[in-house]
Amino acid sequence: MTTYTDRHGATLPLPDAAADARVRSDDRSHVFHSWSAQAAIDPLPVAAGRGSTFWDYDGNAYLDFSSQLVNLNLGHQHPDLVAAIQQQAGRLSTIQPAMANDVRGELARLISEVAPDGFEKVFFTNGGAEANEYAVRMARQSTGRRKVLSMYRSYHGSTSTAISLTGDPRRWANDTADAGAVRFFGPYLYRSPFHAETPEQEAERALAHLEQTIQLEGPQTIAAIIIETVVGTNGVLVPPPGYLPGVRALCDRYGIVYIADEVMVGFGRLGEWFGIDAFGAQPDLLTFAKGVNSGYVPLGGVVISDRIARAFDTMPFAGGLTYSGHPLACAAGVATFEVFRRDGILERVRDLGERVVEPTLRSWVERHPSVGEVRGRGLFWAVELVRDAETREPLVPFNAAGADAAPMVAFATAARRAGVWPFTHFNRVHVAPPLVIEEEELRRGLGVIDEALAVADEVA
Ligand code: PLP
Repeated sequence: MTTYTDRHGATLPLPDAAADARVRSDDRSHVFHSWSAQAAIDPLPVAAGRGSTFWDYDGNAYLDFSSQLVNLNLGHQHPDLVAAIQQQAGRLSTIQPAMANDVRGELARLISEVAPDGFEKVFFTNGGAEANEYAVRMARQSTGRRKVLSMYRSYHGSTSTAISLTGDPRRWANDTADAGAVRFFGPYLYRSPFHAETPEQEAERALAHLEQTIQLEGPQTIAAIIIETVVGTNGVLVPPPGYLPGVRALCDRYGIVYIADEVMVGFGRLGEWFGIDAFGAQPDLLTFAKGVNSGYVPLGGVVISDRIARAFDTMPFAGGLTYSGHPLACAAGVATFEVFRRDGILERVRDLGERVVEPTLRSWVERHPSVGEVRGRGLFWAVELVRDAETREPLVPFNAAGADAAPMVAFATAARRAGVWPFTHFNRVHVAPPLVIEEEELRRGLGVIDEALAVADEVA
């Protein structure tokens, strides 16, 4: 790849049509992609990235408003993370999990220090789905019960148990993998399953529904309830005040393990180390991945409350992974903590969220007929698009594909042409840029989305 160095010292690709053609050809001939009919996709070849921007081989720059898959919290090619991985690779690239290792131990200690009180131990995995698999296994082994309750409109990953617990269409083709999965409705005031009109009513009725579900399923059969602290890909659904503490109380009443899935929101997305810190509830197991090291090397894990950890003092834990606590991944995690603390990342997420994103998005509800609701926290927001603000009919139908999805495809195309890579899902645009995004970039990207919404307004 031919490159040049820009005035900030960034190495950027020069437009290179031959490289673009080669990458496209290798990819289409040999790479089997996730979640797609293989003939139907045309992935963008990406040549380089830096900070909040990545470039294709034609030299087009894209502001990464989706942080890849909401994992790139510290942006592309953060020099501290790159250096930490390089140094670790030069010293000890891999070591099996039954041996002790300095970066693995250090990262586990750092995580336990920012986790809720009474969480001392960490089990490392290679990603988010595995983290949820192992959390469920811990809950089942420690309670001797089997069922796990999860929400409709949730995503917990794509391995067997995690996909069975998922409450969205990604589960449909994998539905029989885990007979112990039972789903319930969580709070979603804009489209309330409980016909509630206030957040208080929504919380109260959602908790009553959950308690009935527990009673009808048989509390003595239920090992765990798993909940995304803020539901991510299914709509950035922020729980109403009182809901998560109410879940905690139900888990206490019925002896159920509360698993908080923080794979997407953990490590700063909401302006807290862990999202749960903002909602006044304490889980028993807390799962993480993505933001722990921005996905530079695959890493996830389960933070374990002392109560659950004690159950395994004498009972052997039945599980393990060759790459659990991989040194390269952990080195990037340790560096992530250093950057967060030195650069005040949590503070800037709260500041940019409250001062820039929230007021801008709220103004769209007034100005764009297609914007039904905006919701979020920190640097994690959703804009829900509708055909009709009164009836709240979604801009595209639930699970839209093909021609049905055309207005959202047109919106995304307009945003990309103007240099912003958005995150869209059904009738929503999510705003989830890297936490290191410059204020000027953030305002510019929001401006592009604002203009691209004209495409949706034409349909509304
Ligand atoms: N849980 C949540 C809330 C997620 O958002 C995701 C991925 O997006 C996962 C679990 C699965 O993580 P992974 O893709 O690393 O397996």
